[in-house]
Amino acid sequence: MGIDLKLEPFEFEGLLNKRPLILAGPCSAESEEQVMETARQLKQYGIKIFRAGIWKPRTRPNSFEGVGSKGLTWLRHVKEELGMYTSTEVANVKHVYDALKAGVDILWLGARTTANPFAVQEIADALHGVDIPVMVKNPVNPDPELWIGALERLNNTGITKLAAIHRGFSIYGKSFYRNHPQWQIPIELKRRIPGLPIITDPSHICGNRELLFEISQKAMDLNFEGLIIETHIDPDNAWSDAQQQITPQVLNDLLNSLVLRSENVESAVLMTTLEELRGEIDKFDDQLMKILECRMSISRKIGEHKKQNNITILQTSRWDELLRRRIEEGERKGLGEEFIVKLFRAIHQESINHQTKVMNSKDVDLDSKIAYPTEIL
Ligand code: PEP
Ligand code: MN
Repeated sequence: MGIDLKLEPFEFEGLLNKRPLILAGPCSAESEEQVMETARQLKQYGIKIFRAGIWKPRTRPNSFEGVGSKGLTWLRHVKEELGMYTSTEVANVKHVYDALKAGVDILWLGARTTANPFAVQEIADALHGVDIPVMVKNPVNPDPELWIGALERLNNTGITKLAAIHRGFSIYGKSFYRNHPQWQIPIELKRRIPGLPIITDPSHICGNRELLFEISQKAMDLNFEGLIIETHIDPDNAWSDAQQQITPQVLNDLLNSLVLRSENVESAVLMTTLEELRGEIDKFDDQLMKILECRMSISRKIGEHKKQNNITILQTSRWDELLRRRIEEGERKGLGEEFIVKLFRAIHQESINHQTKVMNSKDVDLDSKIAYPTEIL
């Protein structure tokens, strides 16, 4: 289902046409010198939009929570002295008023704010009648509806220059990423709101410097519109998010290394080859669907057998063994462990669902009801 938002082009002197749109600057404004020097260096590398957190939403108390409103004066200096656009996060009505008074050009809602409809509504109401671009970070939890809801609340009060920031999603436990990118969620957002620019935030997805390029390149390959990357003159000594920040020079190298591919396939030859390859993929997907259908019909038979013999659906040892073998096999076939685990978990869950249905049904003989796709057998 498409979402009907009234959107106006998110333009900064046509910056969006020269993709990608880049926002860069420190996680937090720390001092006037740090803000001005970072901005000066970024400007030298052609960056036009400066970001800096003034109020920082920290998970635990007693960590640095931002310099507060006095930092807005520094952002004003970046704007007036260097001619850059400025942006910051707002999380409540006071932040909105202070940021607007200081002439901040772009506001963004942080991930924790997007997850809270009361806070989003208050901010939206405070922005009634104000024509300012607003970027909405994805909520901390992987819920596209909450992300869309925040965009709708802002749009309903008249904010039309909207963009979404993809900063990844929290998960419990140790992970490769600080926030899991779950690319399918911003892709789904793009599908439902095609005119909405998506800016990826590799810094908060990665939580370290090493993966920034990979995530940025992936965002470009998905044809997302921009990147917001935390940049600091002295990253190791940053007061917040030190591990993920990079210097303006490293940012410049990263941006120069990005490969920007065109969405429009002009060459007919290219298009034909692409069509052929897509056709082959479709054929394999057809087979996959038939195999899954067949696999589930066997699961139902197993369910019937277990029901008759009164044994539980889940036998953990068999499941562990199956998964271990498939992970090993996947490795030999060049298929990542994470993918194999996710795939087999999903198949296994579906299989359990089919078995549960059988075990709770009154029918005994399922044989007559099972239709095996003949091509497979
Ligand atoms: C930030 O951009 O510094 C920030 C706090 O981000 P998030 O809301 O994505 O955690
Ligand atoms: Mn940060």
